[in-house]
Amino acid sequence: MPKTSQAQPAPPSYRYLFGPVASSRLGRSLGLDLLGGPICSFDCVYCEVGRTKLHTCQRRAHVPASRLVQELRQWFKEGHQPPDYITLGGQGEPTLNSELGTLVHQVRQQWPTIPIAVLTNSSLLHREDVQEELAEVDTVLPSLDTLVDTEFHHLNRPCTGVDLSRISQGLLEFRRRYSGKIFLEILLVHGINDTAENKNRLREFIAEFSPQRVDVVTMTRPGAFSEARPIPNSILRSWREALGACQDPVARSSAPETHTTSPVHLDGQAIAATITNSLARRPQTVDQLAFALNFARSDVAATLDALQNQGTVVVLTGTDVPYYGLASSERN
Ligand code: SF4
Repeated sequence: MPKTSQAQPAPPSYRYLFGPVASSRLGRSLGLDLLGGPICSFDCVYCEVGRTKLHTCQRRAHVPASRLVQELRQWFKEGHQPPDYITLGGQGEPTLNSELGTLVHQVRQQWPTIPIAVLTNSSLLHREDVQEELAEVDTVLPSLDTLVDTEFHHLNRPCTGVDLSRISQGLLEFRRRYSGKIFLEILLVHGINDTAENKNRLREFIAEFSPQRVDVVTMTRPGAFSEARPIPNSILRSWREALGACQDPVARSSAPETHTTSPVHLDGQAIAATITNSLARRPQTVDQLAFALNFARSDVAATLDALQNQGTVVVLTGTDVPYYGLASSERN
C-alpha cells in the first residue's frame, strides 16, 4: 500500500486556489478560481455563488495566469498528495478569463501527469479562440440546462447577445474537433426547466452530441433567487433514465478503495478551519469531506457536529445522503 507524506490541505490563505474537494465526476479535485468574484455571462436563478456582479461576455484577464500558477506552485511545494484533477472554474464563467490558454499551457507543462478539467456554462464554446484554448485540456464539463428559449432566459438569465441556438451549435462543433472527454451537466429547477418539451429536446441533442457522460442534477443549497427550488428525487431519477444519465452521481460519497494514504491528523481547530473553507465552496457529505481533505471520517463527523452546534454549518435537505453547507450568516 503506497504511502505519501501526511500533507495538510490548502490553508484558507490562498486567494484563488481551493480544495481539494470531492467531485463525483473528477475525484479529488484541486480548484482554481479564474474570476476572483461573481463574474459571469449568466445570472442563474439557482447560482450558489449568489447574484452575478459583473454580467458580461467580454473576455479579460480577470485573474492573471501567472498568479494562478504561483498559487499552484506554492501548493505543490507544500508536499500535498497530488489531486486527481486540477479544475479550472471559480465564482463565474472561467472561459471569460482571456488568459485561459496561457494558464492551461503552463499547467500542462509544469504538472504533465495531472489531468486538467474545465467547467463551463457553454456560452463561449462557439468561439474559435476558446475551442483552441481548450484543446489541451483532458476533460471539459459543459452545462446545458434547457433547449427551450423561454426557459433559458428565465433560468440562466444570459447577458445581452447570448443566443441559445448558438450555444447548442457551438457545443456540437466543439464536440467534433475536441479529442478529450466531455461530461455534460443538466441542472433542473422545479417549475422552470423540468418540462416534457425540454426533456425531449435534450434527449435528441444528447443523441447527436454523444458526450462520454451525462449528469442530471438539482439544487443542493439555496440559489441566488428564492423562487429556485430543487426537483423531487423521483423526477430526478426519471430524467436520468430518459437521458441516459448517471443514476447515482453521489456514488463518491463513500471513499473509494484506491484512496489508500493515511488520514491526516490535525488539531480540532485546524480541521474545523479547513472544513469551513471547503464548505464555503460547495456543500459536501461527511464521506466527501473525509475523502477530499484526507481526514479520518470520525474527525470530520465530530467536527461537523460541533460546527452545527455553534451555528456555522447546517444540514441541507432534499437529498438522500445528508449534505453539509455553511449557514447563510457565514457565507459572503
Ligand atoms: S453559469 Fe454558473 S457561475 Fe454563472 S451564474 Fe450560472 S451557476 Fe452561477
